[in-house]
Amino acid sequence: MKLKGDQSTARAMNRRLILNLLRQEGPRSRADIASVTGLSPAAVTFVVADLIDEGLLIEGKTVAGSAGRRPIPVDINYANGLAIGFKLMVGSVECVVTDLATNPLGSMRLPLAGHDPDHIVTTLAEAVPELASLVDRPGARLAGIGISMPGVIDNHKAVCIRSHRYNWDNVPLGGMLAERVKVPVWLEDDTNAYAIAQQLFGLGRQHRNMAVLAIGVGIGCALVFEGKLYRGANGAAGKFGHVSYVENGRLCECGKRGCLMAYYAEPAILNTWRDATGRGKGAGRPELLAALKAGEPQALAVLEEAGNGIGRHLANLVNITDPEVIVVGGEAVSFGDALFGPLRRALEKNTFRAPPPVLPDWEDNSWARGAAALVTQKIFDFETSAGNAAPSPDQGTGRERRPPLS
Ligand SMILES: [Zn+2]
Repeated sequence: MKLKGDQSTARAMNRRLILNLLRQEGPRSRADIASVTGLSPAAVTFVVADLIDEGLLIEGKTVAGSAGRRPIPVDINYANGLAIGFKLMVGSVECVVTDLATNPLGSMRLPLAGHDPDHIVTTLAEAVPELASLVDRPGARLAGIGISMPGVIDNHKAVCIRSHRYNWDNVPLGGMLAERVKVPVWLEDDTNAYAIAQQLFGLGRQHRNMAVLAIGVGIGCALVFEGKLYRGANGAAGKFGHVSYVENGRLCECGKRGCLMAYYAEPAILNTWRDATGRGKGAGRPELLAALKAGEPQALAVLEEAGNGIGRHLANLVNITDPEVIVVGGEAVSFGDALFGPLRRALEKNTFRAPPPVLPDWEDNSWARGAAALVTQKIFDFETSAGNAAPSPDQGTGRERRPPLS
């Protein structure tokens, strides 16, 4: 979608300032917006009128109070559109349709027969009308589609530069799907998309510096510095699973040896546990969870080792980047304290200062919602950052209506 105005112009900056204030704090009157942002009342009136014209803002109801007629609040028009999020996994796609605050309105999971780009584009294109039919919102238009997948992504061009898991090089997935469905499509690394959603509407909302750790089929991290997602020079920042854990150790999917994820991504954890207990290939996460619940010593030992191994490296990351919080997501979150206990102890032991809080995200569909957040972020011109409109701590509670998380 083309955004109005040059991003660098004062007008574009004012738009972003106002939209981010309303995202963080809920409905506000024009006078309120002016006093919090420091913009002139005339500038606020002008920008708000523009945003209402575009359907991005909506006027609330005037509340008659004892002090007479009170000013009309304006709010972000989250109901104005729908977003679709696709999270591509190894054998399936998690699909979600949300409003523009990424609240899920419908979801489904589709199997993937393979990783051929044309097959995937067809699968996604056919899912679009099906997802739209799950939602009963006459008049709401599909604002866009976000796709998240593991890999090195050029998010400006919506091209997957390299994905080890899909064995892709330079696949213009975003453009291929947009061609079929005729709506804007955005593509992002899955952990980055997840971090954007956490920053806009989730556990990272009040933090300008945060790390997001994902432990699932791989191990990844996303870094938000001063409110901006840090992508690195080549879009390859945050490949935390590929830090060297054992010199010349196990072969990793990236072709190198001894990477952290070759030991402690979920498939590796399950393998180690099966080897330790003589269980067959059929024993997966549910069986390991049952073993943990039953207090099986081997299961606890495997998670202890994983938590400790990941935690030690996470401590290095903390020592280098100094995040306010670490949000953790991914399938391995379900291992709970068996994993997080040793992970927190390893952090405690190895960080230079007291470690930041580790916040597991228990929401089921946060990952697909992360993909949908790519749409919201672009449509509303949100920064991942709190921007200049960061509320002071005493403004953070009470009056605002935040889009609910589920
Ligand atoms: Zn690797």
